[in-house]
Amino acid sequence: MKQERWRPPALLWASLVCHLGATTLWALMPHHWPLALGILVINHLALAVTGLLPRSKGLGPNLTRLPESAARQGWVALTIDDGPDPEVTPKVLEILAAYQAKATFFCIGKKVEAFPELAQAIVAAGHAIENHGQCHHTFNSLQGMSGWTREIADAQASIHKATGQTPRFYRPTAGLRNPFLDPVLHRLDMHLASWTRRGYDTRVQDSEQVFTRLSRGLRGGDILLLHDGNAARTTHATPVIIAVLPRLLDTIATLGLRPVTLRAVFDDPRTPHTDS
Ligand SMILES: [Zn+2]
Repeated sequence: MKQERWRPPALLWASLVCHLGATTLWALMPHHWPLALGILVINHLALAVTGLLPRSKGLGPNLTRLPESAARQGWVALTIDDGPDPEVTPKVLEILAAYQAKATFFCIGKKVEAFPELAQAIVAAGHAIENHGQCHHTFNSLQGMSGWTREIADAQASIHKATGQTPRFYRPTAGLRNPFLDPVLHRLDMHLASWTRRGYDTRVQDSEQVFTRLSRGLRGGDILLLHDGNAARTTHATPVIIAVLPRLLDTIATLGLRPVTLRAVFDDPRTPHTDS
């Protein structure tokens, strides 16, 4: 995926037009100030709502599915967030090894610092570690460019120090964003990656429900989201990902699909080198 010159997405151009229009209206016809204010409020609401939709592309490129060339080959991407976790990650690695499946772990920088041996085990098993932020604060989406830069660059440093790998993809906490993220990712030569579907396995205890959400309509090109960190527990106290993963991998195999890492997809010469 080659980075080209940063270009503001259409929604930001529309915002610029709204601001110019509203301020001009206010200056030339002050008695129309409620209309000018209304334009600005609606514009900011549109930006905020777009940032709350993890799969939206209104704030810049956002990988929600693998490219068509990968989909045609039956490739799918398992992405596993919020780890590494000393209880869950080793079991996840065992299951993935039994199925010879490769996954992408979106790790939290501070957890990598706390458990570097787990991060090393992930990489040694042929999986990829990508960037899920240094602190994973819920309110990260309220920060400006310097806050985003610190959160992402610190995690890059933590992950590189532990594993020697430099992440190429970033996934914000809960997928929440604002307009300042895209230029920061562009400057850091990174790409935003969200998902095709998720199982809500940090809060849904019912593994059947999580499995159904992930497997219904599953097809080549899908990016699935699961969690090894912050994993919900079933009524038998099993982390939901542990209960779901073998069945999900069985289904993937039955459908003739193959789980690969995100970076393997974009390193493949058949994948077009353009941003999503
Ligand atoms: Zn997360």
